[in-house]
Amino acid sequence: MKENYKLSRRDFIKLTGLGFAGFVLKPKESGLYWPKEVVSRIETDKPEYALTIDDGWRPDSLVTMLDILKEKGVKADFFLVGTAAISCEGKYPGILSRLADEGHRIAYHTYSHDGNEIQKAKSSWLSSDYDDWMSLFKSILGSARFKKAFFRGARAPGGAFTDEFIRFTQKKGLTPYGWFSDPSTFNRGIPIKKGEILLLHVRFSDEDYLARLDEFTDGPLIPTTISCLQSQESCVSSCIKERDRLDNKLNKMEEIFRDDNR
Ligand SMILES: [Zn+2]
Repeated sequence: MKENYKLSRRDFIKLTGLGFAGFVLKPKESGLYWPKEVVSRIETDKPEYALTIDDGWRPDSLVTMLDILKEKGVKADFFLVGTAAISCEGKYPGILSRLADEGHRIAYHTYSHDGNEIQKAKSSWLSSDYDDWMSLFKSILGSARFKKAFFRGARAPGGAFTDEFIRFTQKKGLTPYGWFSDPSTFNRGIPIKKGEILLLHVRFSDEDYLARLDEFTDGPLIPTTISCLQSQESCVSSCIKERDRLDNKLNKMEEIFRDDNR
């Protein structure tokens, strides 16, 4: 005999209860659960999103990615690791000065990127790690250049935003920034929508993502820095201005070069 599928009152309550719980607990699109203090998107009407690039252990990729950003006239926030900065400067002395001088920002992503340490780290450990990170970048860039490039953001390695990490950021006056879109590692948060924070890494595979950013957005959106996205003004004009400035400079250099060879 065919089974009767009519729902009992109890079944109905169970199912709607589960449905409600499913709605409440549904992971956000990025699939990451973080404390409410962690910012992964910014409310905005501007057709822009934030481009953040992490770590920095691949000096060759850093050079290529800076070239791509320059070509596109785009600024980014680099959440750099101390040991990675040492590698980059070791292979390409002055590379971080170039990064700063080209208008990108630098934010805290720990000195060593040690995930195990971070999971058990106390606020005091983080404070001393942060102090070491600050001293390193000041010594590489010089105080004035560092001050200009430094952005008061902090990102926990592997997104391990523990309660201690949040407490540490509050103590130091930093904002913990997560991410919403992560196309190259987990294919999350695609297409990128306005106001979202995109995560890429300084690595070979992400050079290609950086070059093809337009393919991952929900319509025509401009990548920019977090602080630009948070400001009222559109950053598009500053990007275009920067590109025009570089084009003019290049044209002038070509003219000089042609004159010298006549
Ligand atoms: Zn990292």
